[in-house]
Amino acid sequence: MNRSESKDITIIGGGPTGLFAAFYAGLRGVSARIIDSLPELGGQLTALYPEKYIYDVGGFPQILARDLAKNMVEQGLQFGAEVRLEEQVLELIREPDGSFIVRTDRGMYPTRAVIIAAGKGAFSPRVLECPGYDRLLGRGVSYHVKDPALYDGKRVLIVGGGDSAVDWTLALQDRAEHLILIHRRQGFRAHPHSMQQFQDAVAAGKVQLLTHREVREIHGDESVSAVTIFDNRTDEEERFEVDAVLALIGFKPDLGPIADWGLELERNCIKVGPTMETNVPGVFAAGDIVTYEGKLELIATGFGEAAIAVNYAVHHIDPKARINPGHSTNLKVFKDREPALAGSGDP
Ligand SMILES: Cc1cc2nc3c(=O)[nH]c(=O)nc-3n(C[C@H](O)[C@H](O)[C@H](O)COP(=O)(O)OP(=O)(O)OC[C@H]3O[C@@H](n4cnc5c(N)ncnc54)[C@H](O)[C@@H]3O)c2cc1C
Repeated sequence: MNRSESKDITIIGGGPTGLFAAFYAGLRGVSARIIDSLPELGGQLTALYPEKYIYDVGGFPQILARDLAKNMVEQGLQFGAEVRLEEQVLELIREPDGSFIVRTDRGMYPTRAVIIAAGKGAFSPRVLECPGYDRLLGRGVSYHVKDPALYDGKRVLIVGGGDSAVDWTLALQDRAEHLILIHRRQGFRAHPHSMQQFQDAVAAGKVQLLTHREVREIHGDESVSAVTIFDNRTDEEERFEVDAVLALIGFKPDLGPIADWGLELERNCIKVGPTMETNVPGVFAAGDIVTYEGKLELIATGFGEAAIAVNYAVHHIDPKARINPGHSTNLKVFKDREPALAGSGDP
């Protein structure tokens, strides 16, 4: 299995907490790597509610979750943190010298300290429980859109009733030759603004909408050729010739292997002390995954915990390093680039 170069800090999870930890590692001048099982950074913000507004993050009276995630990626990766996506961390191996190897389903990542910012666990896509799904996954069946151009001129069936299904329907409406969206209920859980656009697209005949429908079977030999759906009130079936099935029905979190790493847990969360260190020296945790007295599961608290975890991880790696990072306003790492911000109002 591929063994990568060693990093000072390996961050498990690329949600808001992990991204802020990557930023803070750069601020402290240590090398970092983020590993996430999803195809995109942003954690719950991009996977679960990209089109919802967030109102309780400092500095932003209101911001779309996907825009906050985009800003966080820009801030978090500015110091060159390595990013490994679509890799699930399976094992944390302790080396005799106190360092670690983080093993994923695709590689081995040596590291001097670990920060677990894994939220509720690795997100895996909710799948369609029907014949043909597994067999044709990657051959016309997909649970996320890697490249919208792949659907140009295609007959596409989208399954789902949340933001992701509605947003991708809107994005593909002028690309696909024929676009059908099915949803198992009447009501949708998408952003009202997107829903208005969606209803306009349906009214304009760009999208065929069928509610109370579910997929019974996906057909095809080498790739998807058709799909059978059924009305969940009458069991009446219909068959559509399609080239692609997009099952955009969400993700489910699973703490999975983290539960077996010898960490002290409480109700599926990792117990940490005031420095965000776990019961295993050198392994820190932050964000939704942690528990301590007074813990609140918020983006804002995750930011604070990430900063604490990184500063103490730096001290763990080098006991001579200061714990307190100082103020970013005075740090050399930012001073070097200040001329780029000329005209920002400073005299
Ligand atoms: C609908 C909704 C609305 C919300 N609104 C707000 C709000 O308005 N304000 C607010 O403060 N909070 C809100 N939250 C909560 C907020 O999104 C979370 O507190 C925040 O996302 C936690 O960030 P995190 O980085 O700790 O975890 P996450 O965002 O969950 O990210 C964790 C990441 O770790 C990855 N991961 C986990 N295990 C592994 C593994 N073994 N291998 C590889 N990768 C792994 C996951 O794939 C995921 O990407 C909302 C949540 C939801 C669901």
